[in-house]
Amino acid sequence: MNRDEELKRKIKKLQDKLSLMSKVLKYMSEGILIIDREGRVRSANDAFFSITGLRQENVYGKKLSDLGFKWEGYPSFREVMEILLSEGVWKGEVWGVHRGGSPFTSETTLVKADEETYIAIFLDSTDKRSLEASLRSLAYYDSLTGLPNRALLYDHLSQLLFQAKEDSRKLAVIFFDIDSFKLINDTLGHEVGDSLLKAFAHRLTSHFPQNTMVARFGSDEFVVVLDSVSGIDDVEELVSGFLKSVTTPFFLEGQKIYITVTAGISIYPIDGGDPQTLLRNADIAMHHAKELGKSSYKFFTNELNLKVSERFTLQAELRDALEREEFVLYYQPQFELQTNSMVGVEALIRWHHPDRGVILPGRFMHVAEDTDIIVPLGYWILKRACEDGKKLLDKGFPLKVAVNISTKQIAESDFVRKLKDILNETGFDPNFLEIEITESVLMKNKQQSADVLRELKKMGISIAIDDFGTSYSSLNYLKYFPVDKLKIDKSFIGDVVSDPNDVAIATTIIAIAHNLGLKATAEGVETEEQLIFLKLWQCDEAQGFYFSPPVTLDSLMDMLSNENFKIRGV
Ligand code: C2E
Ligand code: MG
Ligand code: MG
Repeated sequence: MNRDEELKRKIKKLQDKLSLMSKVLKYMSEGILIIDREGRVRSANDAFFSITGLRQENVYGKKLSDLGFKWEGYPSFREVMEILLSEGVWKGEVWGVHRGGSPFTSETTLVKADEETYIAIFLDSTDKRSLEASLRSLAYYDSLTGLPNRALLYDHLSQLLFQAKEDSRKLAVIFFDIDSFKLINDTLGHEVGDSLLKAFAHRLTSHFPQNTMVARFGSDEFVVVLDSVSGIDDVEELVSGFLKSVTTPFFLEGQKIYITVTAGISIYPIDGGDPQTLLRNADIAMHHAKELGKSSYKFFTNELNLKVSERFTLQAELRDALEREEFVLYYQPQFELQTNSMVGVEALIRWHHPDRGVILPGRFMHVAEDTDIIVPLGYWILKRACEDGKKLLDKGFPLKVAVNISTKQIAESDFVRKLKDILNETGFDPNFLEIEITESVLMKNKQQSADVLRELKKMGISIAIDDFGTSYSSLNYLKYFPVDKLKIDKSFIGDVVSDPNDVAIATTIIAIAHNLGLKATAEGVETEEQLIFLKLWQCDEAQGFYFSPPVTLDSLMDMLSNENFKIRGV
């Protein structure tokens, strides 16, 4: 056998061994964790995840000390690691809490494999020790409702905070208190009071997403921890939804019982960084809400409360504004980079408030979208944009008018018919109308959006994907929708000259567009350097303050007549 063959044979043998090893690791019932001498996790098998209830993303790249385990006889993993480094082995019991709140225990052995590698073996002892576990759970669970108690809440909240810190996520702590619970207890008796607490605990748990930490804090006080909060609005919706649903009466021991609940909310990181502070502030917010009238909720941070009340006023004001025609469409020019000429405009809404002056859409469109005001407002926008587009055409300016459309509008069953009516009424040529939608709008209702877009396409209307690249979505969907243009979000254009990440994203979007036979438009172009960069990468069109901010129709007409609509400079 020559050396080559010898080597091949050895490699093959090694590979077989490795594949056998990985099969053993995969199917064995002991959890195996491979760590380095810093305690950082290199690898873990399936059993480890099922014993501990942890998920891959919470484990890989993390240190063993970060996983929130308790080490028998030692205050922290650091001491355990010291023993491991000096003696080469550590044995003891390890325990922790699953995400959902149930405890696990494991007989654990840590051994040194070589200078750089250590192996941790977790033997699930939760069942074997069920007696001990139930003793522990006595200390950690409320016997009446079965919910985690205050001690487990503290413990679990500190783990959740640790993870939220790592992933820079927000977290909400919500304090609920049943209004006048004492009265119920005193008048209907403790038995009814207890049944009510149980039934209440059940309603609370089922209202919030699965695996949410729901704990009984005190007699009639409950705490909910929301550990992945994308926005304050989501928290508010869940809390106000619960306060509303709890007014449906409870039927207990043959009686119909009505209750109301008051809630206080604190948010990590703005209202505190540790369990004590967050719980205290949520409690303060709850008492504040009680002072102002029961059956309500308050955020700890006043600014957030302002936002809530501002929103209510805004909703009412928006309806009036629509009737009083306080909305105005501004138009931002879009240029074709090859010819330097203006080829279109994007219609952008402004609110000319009688007292507060011009208000930008960022301040009110989300409220319009949350309520149904967006539907009539959306039709108003479309109609005005078509009227103005017709005026431009009549004056001899053949510009495409792009209009932003939101989810609720597309979801309207007669959207296409109403749009046809608008085109008929205004006499605007649909070949000059462009619809801008975001990826999230498309993904919310794939089939229906695809149908609507196909209809629009048939009418000659073109379709642009707005803010492309800002939301995670698969590129696959582009094939299913009849799209004409991708608009590169302005956040990627801002540093496109200096930040290599933005360069990569912007040029990739241009390449994707061209590969699919679509056009690429850059938004938010503010400098000549950005423009040169975009020209070099053969971006098709651009808009931004470098050319012009959004302007009124009159200013646009002036600009068109004076400047012969060409880009200055480059
Ligand atoms: P969008 O559709 O991505 O609009 C582009 C935004 O970028 C506009 O903000 C525009 O004024 C701004 N912008 C333009 N050039 C530059 C620049 O060079 N630098 C910077 N930093 N910003 C620039 P605006 O008008 O405040 O609109 C914000 C968002 O509000 C729009 O984002 C759109 O999503 C929404 N919106 C505006 N008008 C309407 C509308 O009529 N209907 C609907 N559904 N949404 C609208
Ligand atoms: Mg837009
Ligand atoms: Mg945009």
